[in-house]
Formats: sequence, C-alpha cells, structure tokens
Amino acid sequence: MSGIVGIITKKDCKEDLFYATDYHSHLGTAYGGIAISDNDILQKKIHTISKVQFKSRFVEDIDFIHMKGKSGIGVISDRDIQPLIMRLRFGEYAICGAGYIDNQDELTRELIDEGVVFSEMANGKVNQIELVAKLINQRDNLVGGIENMYSRIDGSVSLLLLGKEGIFAARDKYGRTPLVLAERNGDKIVVSETCAYKNLGFKTKKFLGPGEILLINEDKVEQKKKKEDILQLCAFLFVYTGFPASEYEGKNVEEYREYAGRIIAKKDNVDVDLVAGIADSGTAYAHGYSHESGIPVRIPLLKYTPGWARSYVPPSQETRDLIALMKQITADAIIKGQKIAITEDSIVRGTQLKNYLLVKLWDAGAKEIHIRPACPALMFPCKFVFSTRAIEELFARRVLKKMHGRHIQDVEPYLDTDSKQYKEMIKAMEKDLNVNSLRYQRLEDMLSATGLPRESLCTYCWTGKEIK
Ligand code: SF4
Repeated sequence: MSGIVGIITKKDCKEDLFYATDYHSHLGTAYGGIAISDNDILQKKIHTISKVQFKSRFVEDIDFIHMKGKSGIGVISDRDIQPLIMRLRFGEYAICGAGYIDNQDELTRELIDEGVVFSEMANGKVNQIELVAKLINQRDNLVGGIENMYSRIDGSVSLLLLGKEGIFAARDKYGRTPLVLAERNGDKIVVSETCAYKNLGFKTKKFLGPGEILLINEDKVEQKKKKEDILQLCAFLFVYTGFPASEYEGKNVEEYREYAGRIIAKKDNVDVDLVAGIADSGTAYAHGYSHESGIPVRIPLLKYTPGWARSYVPPSQETRDLIALMKQITADAIIKGQKIAITEDSIVRGTQLKNYLLVKLWDAGAKEIHIRPACPALMFPCKFVFSTRAIEELFARRVLKKMHGRHIQDVEPYLDTDSKQYKEMIKAMEKDLNVNSLRYQRLEDMLSATGLPRESLCTYCWTGKEIK
C-alpha cells in the first residue's frame, strides 16, 4: 500500500521526518526513502528495507546524517523506488505516493507512443511515481496536472510533491488511501497514518477529503482544490492494513476491531473454552469477542520476535512460509484438550493459517478449532492499493477451483451468504483448513462497525463492485 509523510518545520525537520516515516513501516517492506529541501536544493536517500528495517538502514547512513532542511517528504514503499526528484515544467519536485495504478501498462504504452521516455524501471515495469509525474507534466499547472493524472489512472494514488512553494498534498480522487494534516506550534505534517505523529506532539487538524489538494508551507495551508463528493475509503484498512492506533475519517482502528469482534460473538453460538486472536491484527477482535461472550481470551501462539515482517507483504512465497513457520510458537499447556475459537482478520491466502498455525494447534492437542475471520471471504484482488495480488492467490478462489476443477469467472452465487452455493463453499473451506467450523463476518456487520456511511467505503475485494 505504501505510507507517505510530508513535513514543514521552523527548525530542521530531519528527526521528525525520520520517526514519522518509520511509523509507516507496517505499510510496506520494499523501500524506505526520504527527500529534504535545504534552501530549495533537494536531496534524497533511499534504502531497500526488505531485510533490514527502515530505522536501522537510516541511522547508520552518513549521507542521511548530514542531510538538513526545514521541509521534507518520506515514504515507506511496498513496490516502487521513491521518492523521485524530477524536473517538471513547473519546477523541480521531490515526489512520493501511496496507491496502485492498475492500467499502468496501457498508460505507459500511450505515453511512450507520444515520445515520453521512462528511466526508472524495476522488474520490467515502469516506476509508478515516474508515470504519475509524467501524467502531471502534461498540463501547464501543477493542480491541473494532478487532476489530469487522476482522470487517466485506473487505481488510486495519494501524493506529495515537495518544491519551492512548499508541499502539495493530494489525496486520491476517491480517497481510498487516507491523508491527514496535523500541526504543532506552527509546524505542519501530512501523513497517511495518524499514528505517525502522536508521539511527536502534533495534533490532528484535518482529514483531507477525496481529491482534495492542499499547498502547505511555513506561512499557510492553502486549499488548491476542493474535495470531491464521493468517498471510497479502503475498508481493508480497518480490517487489517491499518495500524491500531490510527484513525481514518476520525474512527480509531483498535476500537473498530474490538467492536467488530463483539458483533462476531453476538452472532456466534459455538461452545468453546477460549478465544484467541491470530497475528496482531486478530487480537482486538478476540478482545471484543471475549467482552461480548464472557469467554476468556488466551494466547496459545506466541510471536517470538516483533522483528519479523508482516507475512503477507514479503514478495516471495518462500519468505512468507519461513516467517509463518518460525514466528509463532505454541504454549502447549493452554492448547491441550481445549475447544478454541480463533479470530483473525481475513484469510487472504490461507496458506500459513492452514499449513503452519492450525497444524501447530492440532499438534499441541487442541480438541476443536473454530475460525472466525473478521470480514467476508476475499474474492477479488485489490486493484487500488496493492493489498492482494492475483485471483489465484486468494483462499476462497483456490477452494472454488478445487470444487469446480478450474477457476470460475462467475462467483456471484458465492457472494450471497444465504445461498446453497455459499454454504457448500464454506463446507469445502472447513475441510480444506481442517477445522470444526468457519464463519465469516458478514459485510453489513463489518461495515456497520466502522461507524461510517456504507457508501463511503470501498468494498471491491469482497463484492467486485466499484464506483467510477
Ligand atoms: S479493493 Fe479492498 S484492499 Fe483494495 S482499496 Fe478496496 S477495500 Fe481496500
């Protein structure tokens, strides 16, 4: 998904920028990058963070240690090398963004046919931030250029551009990724995640609206473009991707997860001895479940080190498998002979749950295991923020393939939780996972727990429907 930070301070911004960027580490494991403007001279530093975390990379970097300036941008990127420093027709800018462009190949071909050259390639693909910059450069002013980019991309991009005028902060046209402005005694920060500035003394000033563009500098915050009417905030931020201390549109993630866990319990009738959250994101659901049902929360699987990356992010299956195998260790005395309800966020691929975590619980003597994911079955890969990758990887699609002997196109009957087909799919999933029962959270319940209007949330990965 990536997370971005822009900052303007009265003194040197480097330390605040460093910490605020690091607080987005849950949103990407590919690259960490920082650009700082020192008297209008832009400098940048980028490191790979797939094996060594952002903080460790930057604290020992002599170039970074010598960087200084009162304004800067930072990014934790899940895919592209960024920030980029580019000379556009309106001046020189450091640019970074969060999101994903689904029609990047088509747009790249069109621009190349028009004579545009791309220089930042990785794995045979253009750098999406460079593509964004080239689309912005097609108009004769920056705001018009950003609007042009939004009108041409199929996907979602929230963006920061650092130049002589200050920082242009543009939230994605449909607001799928968040962008929030906060202030501290005249210093200003704009971030993807509100958890990034809480320990730095900033206070929330404004959640940017969908498509809204601000120009932020030492003297002012100027609205360069009003927000659009339609908001489609990524609902998966609440379910899994977002950090629990963060707020989206003013709603806290941890509180959401606890409340969603209560709803799961309210609709459940299973007789268990304990409830446990699997992975960090499952814990709050377990607490909510426990508060509602009176069933105790216990911890049958313990994560050995917080240093392991989130297991759905690393690109290779081998790395994900290794992490799943090594990260969680059983507390056998808590498991033996127990009937266990497991709350977990979403069963994206289901491979680690099935091959490692459940096997460990059975091996440690669990009597029954009941899985309670906090959202409906993921059926469609995200094409807006890159949270999931391909249809074949999704657990529900793989189970449907087993049932039909091939990948099926029409999954509509399996989306209706009252249908015969849906019930058959759940039976096949229970068998595949080797659990006593599986019950997904219903879409209406998941959405209602956010406290936001249903129509303001993107639900594409569950419904396959999008607003255009
Ligand atoms: S498709 Fe899913 S992950 Fe992607 S933006 Fe929409 S809700 Fe978020």
